[in-house]
Amino acid sequence: PATLGMLGGGQLGRFFVLAAHEMGYKVWVLDPDQNSPAGKAADRHLCAAYEDFGALDQLAQHCAAITTEFENVPAATLDYLAKFLPVRPSADAVGICQNRVAEKMFLQGNGVPHAAFAAINSLDDLHKAPAELFPGILKVARFGYDGKGQARVASREEAIAAFQAFQQEACVLEQMLQLDYEVSVVLARDEAGNTQSFPVAENAHAKGILDVSIAPARSSSPQLRQQAQQLAEHIAAQLGYIGTLAVEFFVSHGALYVNEMAPRPHNSGHYTVDACITSQYEQQVRALCGLPLGDPRAHSAAVMVNLLGDIWYDPSQPGPDSCGAYREPDWSRLLSIPNLKLHLYGKHHARPGRKMGHFTVVDADPVKAHAVAMAARAAIGIKDE
Ligand code: ATP
Ligand code: MG
Ligand code: MG
Repeated sequence: PATLGMLGGGQLGRFFVLAAHEMGYKVWVLDPDQNSPAGKAADRHLCAAYEDFGALDQLAQHCAAITTEFENVPAATLDYLAKFLPVRPSADAVGICQNRVAEKMFLQGNGVPHAAFAAINSLDDLHKAPAELFPGILKVARFGYDGKGQARVASREEAIAAFQAFQQEACVLEQMLQLDYEVSVVLARDEAGNTQSFPVAENAHAKGILDVSIAPARSSSPQLRQQAQQLAEHIAAQLGYIGTLAVEFFVSHGALYVNEMAPRPHNSGHYTVDACITSQYEQQVRALCGLPLGDPRAHSAAVMVNLLGDIWYDPSQPGPDSCGAYREPDWSRLLSIPNLKLHLYGKHHARPGRKMGHFTVVDADPVKAHAVAMAARAAIGIKDE
C-alpha cells in the first residue's frame, strides 16, 4: 500500500492517520515531539525538526504525497518536499494562511469581507493607524493560536504598550467587531477544482479557545450559511487549494466577515467524524491521493464539546501546584449517554487549556443534541466562564 506523509503530530494529524488507515494507507508522521498523538498512531514517527533535511529526504523517498495538520510548518520545508512529490496544500497556500498580514491582504485583494485592519511593523505604523481601528485587537502576525499572541486594546496608547510587550514583532491591528456569533466552514477541494463544503458550524469560545461547535449553525439563516459556504469556496479557488480547508467567520450586525483560514482540518470540523457521511479527515486523504471527494452531508445534527486539561485537576483538593490534585475524569458520566461519542487523544500530560479530547452528541433533533451536550459538559465538570 502507498505511504502518505504528515507534517505535524497533533490530534488533527492523528485523525488523519486513522482515516488513512481505514482506507488502506500507511502514514509516516514528522513531528519533533516524541509523544505526539499522530506520531504514536502512525506507521512510522520521524521524531525530528521540520527543518531536518535528513528526515525530509526520508519522507520524500518513502511517501507518495505529503500533507500537513499544522499551519506553522516552515515554507522552506514544503518547498523542499514539493521538488520530489505532491505537497497538498501547496507551500503558497500555507504561506498565506500562516501569516496574518498576508492573509488579510489576500482577503482584501479577493473582495472577501474582513474586519478593518492595519499591518503593524513599527511604532510609527501604530501612530499612523486610523482612529477607526480602536477599540481593536492587536495580533502577532505569526504563530498565534487559541487566542495566544493577542491583546485587546481600547486605545492607541494601549496598542503601543501591547506592541512593546510583543517585542515589536510584526502584528496586525484589527478593528474590534461586535459579534452576534461565530461560524466556520470546512471544505475539501480536489485537484480538478471540485469542492464540497460541510454544513456550517456555529462556534462558542471560552478564554480564547474553542469550547462548543454546533452543526448546523443554529443562529443563522439558510441564506447566511449558503453565503458563508460560497465565500469559503471562493477563497479555496483563489488559493488554488487542494485538501481540507477551514474558514472562520464573524457574524456582526447580521453580516459575515472572514476572521482567518486554517490550511488543514479544523477543531470545529471534528463533528464530521460522527455526523457526516465522509469526515473532514477522509476528505483530506481523498484530496491528497487524487481520489474523488466523498459526500459531506450530515446524517444527524451534532454538538461537539472540547475537553481541555482543566478537568483533569480538582482545584478543591491539594495538589503539587495551583491546579489542584490530578485525576483522570470519570468517563462513565459521558459513556452512559447513548448518543455521545467520546474521543481522547492519548496525550501524556494534561495541562489547563490543553486540548485532550472532545465528545460529539448526535441526534436527529438539533435542540435535543444541544441539551444533551450541555448536560454532559456540566456532568464532566466543565464550568462556564
Ligand atoms: P485559533 O485557535 O482559532 O487559531 P487564534 O489565536 O488564531 O485562534 P483568532 O481566531 O484570531 O485567534 O481570535 C480568537 C477569538 O477572539 C475569535 O474567535 C473571536 O472570538 C475573538 N476575536 C478575534 N478577533 C476579533 C475581532 N476583530 N473582533 C471581535 N472579536 C475578535
Ligand atoms: Mg488561528
Ligand atoms: Mg481563530
